Amino acid sequence: MIKDITENVLEDWLDNVRPYAYDGQVANYIPALSRSNPEDLAVAIHYIDGNAVEAGETEVRFTLQSISKVISLALALMDNGESYVFDRVGMEPTGDPFHSIYRLEQIPSKPLNPMINAGALAVTNMIHGDTPDEKVGRLLSFIHDLTDDHSIGYNEEVATSEFESAFLNRSLLFYMKQHQIVTGSVEETLDAYTKQCAIEVNVCQLARIGALLANGGKDIHSGRRIIPKHLARICKTFMVTCGMYDASGSFAIKVGIPAKSGVSGSVLASLNEFGGIAVYGPSLDEKGNSVVGLKLLEILSTRYDLSIF
Ligand code: GLU
Repeated sequence: MIKDITENVLEDWLDNVRPYAYDGQVANYIPALSRSNPEDLAVAIHYIDGNAVEAGETEVRFTLQSISKVISLALALMDNGESYVFDRVGMEPTGDPFHSIYRLEQIPSKPLNPMINAGALAVTNMIHGDTPDEKVGRLLSFIHDLTDDHSIGYNEEVATSEFESAFLNRSLLFYMKQHQIVTGSVEETLDAYTKQCAIEVNVCQLARIGALLANGGKDIHSGRRIIPKHLARICKTFMVTCGMYDASGSFAIKVGIPAKSGVSGSVLASLNEFGGIAVYGPSLDEKGNSVVGLKLLEILSTRYDLSIF
């Protein structure tokens, strides 16, 4: 256990990476995200023994965006079982951008994995619930269990902003509907997906989810099992192979910690026997990963030799 990472150490690291806050750009293809402040930087670590440290703008809440894909996958697996889910969504990484449609045209025309948009949309479609609000309600209760925090909800403005501009995601859904990968209404699945992506957390809540995954799916504090161990392992494996978009390979080499990023500029990392790490810094590199998030995780992994490889 690394006990010498105090809040002062985290503050120092944040100061080291602050000059990079304006490298890259905040996401602007979802209009509401373009108003994020690149200077809002935060980091939290939730250790597996229950202790936590945090630094920076930790009260700032941000939307999960693609990080929600890990959580929706866990719930869809719990709802439907592995074979149902993986009959419809593959397990292989892709070097393509996260919203690419190109691979869907290849046989079998199912999404390559649940971390790209096509796969995540199919996963959301599988979550049990008769209406989008029922699906999102179940996802929120699941997140309340993962964080032991019932205050978490979704940001209506971000959800609406994405819903109104999500033409690529609509195309992916129509394509998958044609090929019977998704069922029901495209608009309703998109509604559930955009609300899922707009679920709002801060770094402390997110780090606690990372700690639960690192603890094999059991809550660190109560010992209550929230995710079956083998499903927590599947989620972490996808984080390694596909969690950082088409930069997952270089991230594995430079950092080597299972992690998932989202276009809000957040990163969730989870390391067995260590705990959860969450970083927020809205400026994104050309692959869609938080510039500051990558730098901070690289510092942490290098200083403490945390790579799993
Ligand atoms: N809601 C975003 C989208 O589907 C999530 C993308 C991301 O964070 O990578 O475009």
